[in-house]
Amino acid sequence: MSIRALVWGENVHEQKNKVVAELYPNGMHSCIAESLNSDAQITATTATLQEPEHGLTESRLAETDVLLWWGHAAHGDVEDAIVERVAERVWGGMGLIVLHSGHFAKIFKRLMGTPCNLTWREAGERERLWLTSRNHPIAAGLPDHFELENEEMYGEPFGIPEPLETVFVSWFQGGEVFRSGVTYKRGAGNVFYFRPGHETYPTYYDENVRTVLRNAVKWAHNPAARIADVNAAPNVPVSEALEPIEERGPRLHHDGEEGYR
Ligand code: ZN
Repeated sequence: MSIRALVWGENVHEQKNKVVAELYPNGMHSCIAESLNSDAQITATTATLQEPEHGLTESRLAETDVLLWWGHAAHGDVEDAIVERVAERVWGGMGLIVLHSGHFAKIFKRLMGTPCNLTWREAGERERLWLTSRNHPIAAGLPDHFELENEEMYGEPFGIPEPLETVFVSWFQGGEVFRSGVTYKRGAGNVFYFRPGHETYPTYYDENVRTVLRNAVKWAHNPAARIADVNAAPNVPVSEALEPIEERGPRLHHDGEEGYR
């Protein structure tokens, strides 16, 4: 069975900006989904902010192995309840790939727990991405470095927790550097942040970028995750021990007492 990827697009710039609409006539999300679908191991579909529940209903998420997220202008319009629903799915084992300006998406900040801020400049300058981890699955088939001729600059310091792994760093023509491909584990969910993808440049047509996204979907998929409902193991006291134990010391928390959680 193929990996079920869902590409979530904010779909706002495509409706309002002529440059973006011409570059991505069917939306950035459709372009990304198309590139994923060129791989027989992946079946990608799309959802957008404008759909009921942002296209992220319980049933839709239950059928999603890996969610990709592109947002920029309307982070604040994403309902908190939906963000929480996505977070719980990630903890339960759904992969999450956050793209470019998604660094400020509610779901990314929720899962990182840090401001996720950075420096930026929109000058269409050259970006050179360097592999820092040649043997990482997300880097499979890529050269040691590749260029994007026109990109927005994102610079350090990047307000993220120390990554589990750094797969790419970027150099920009203006001199800045940035951790542009980083991984995390949140609960049973694999999380990957990938920097490139400014809406006014043809980044999602770039073959190296497309290779990264296909690799990232396969890496993020966690078929071993078993407990879809993270609340299935609530925070409860265990009164019966498996082995006989001798109780020692005072018991501060008694059954039924307020506030022992
Ligand atoms: Zn941008």
